[in-house]
Amino acid sequence: MKLDIQNLSHTYDIEVLNELNIQLENKKAIGLVGVSGSGKSTLLRIMSGLEKPTSGKVIINGFDVQDKAYRKNVGFVFQHHNLFPHLSLLDNITLVLTKTRHVEKEKATDIALNNLRKLSLEDQAHKLPKHVSGGQAQRASIARALSINPDIIFLDEPTSSLDPILTHEVLSSIENLRDSGKDFVFVTHVMSFVKDFADFVIFMDQGKIVETGGPEILDTPKSEALQLFMSKVR
Ligand code: ADP
Ligand code: MG
Repeated sequence: MKLDIQNLSHTYDIEVLNELNIQLENKKAIGLVGVSGSGKSTLLRIMSGLEKPTSGKVIINGFDVQDKAYRKNVGFVFQHHNLFPHLSLLDNITLVLTKTRHVEKEKATDIALNNLRKLSLEDQAHKLPKHVSGGQAQRASIARALSINPDIIFLDEPTSSLDPILTHEVLSSIENLRDSGKDFVFVTHVMSFVKDFADFVIFMDQGKIVETGGPEILDTPKSEALQLFMSKVR
């Protein structure tokens, strides 16, 4: 993806993003890292078009992220899966396709099953979210995000509610999507995953971008803030 963030600031009652600027090209997996409250989720929501910034601009692949056309072309996976509890994993996906994308039921079922298979969930397709593990439900959310065939998938701490085994399971299935042709922007506290999966890392602290570069910046941090952060997460 091509990313251009220009003078981006965002204020709730206090300023949470402060004059961010960054230009990137040809990145496929961008990891956002930093302590809680540093502004990662806010930046991710703005980049995905879910939230309008107070000031400044984000242009991704030539589109202003506020454009409707752009917003139809991104998927989002949240901290907690937000599947409909009364629908099977399969129906959670077909519903989105038939209602919001006007795909015919039969075609929608094909697309959904295909994506459930990519996340190794084909044998769970007819179960309700409460009858599968948290990791499987989160993988179903990823399958749902993939099903609309977006160019970019945003993930905000997709494993923060999972135990270490399920975390590993979900993160490996994301790694398996490396060659899916999608681009990813993700927030996580699992630094081993950032090192394996990201081709670019943005470290945020107190609403600012403090350090950026390849994943190797996590091993050789230059700024005091990233040094301190890495000494805490290791
Ligand atoms: P992170 O994801 O790095 O933990 P966030 O972007 O969630 O950071 O939050 C940055 C700051 O903005 C925090 O101080 C948080 O309390 C505040 N904040 C986030 N969302 C809202 C909101 N909807 N209303 C008011 N304050 C918010
Ligand atoms: Mg967050």
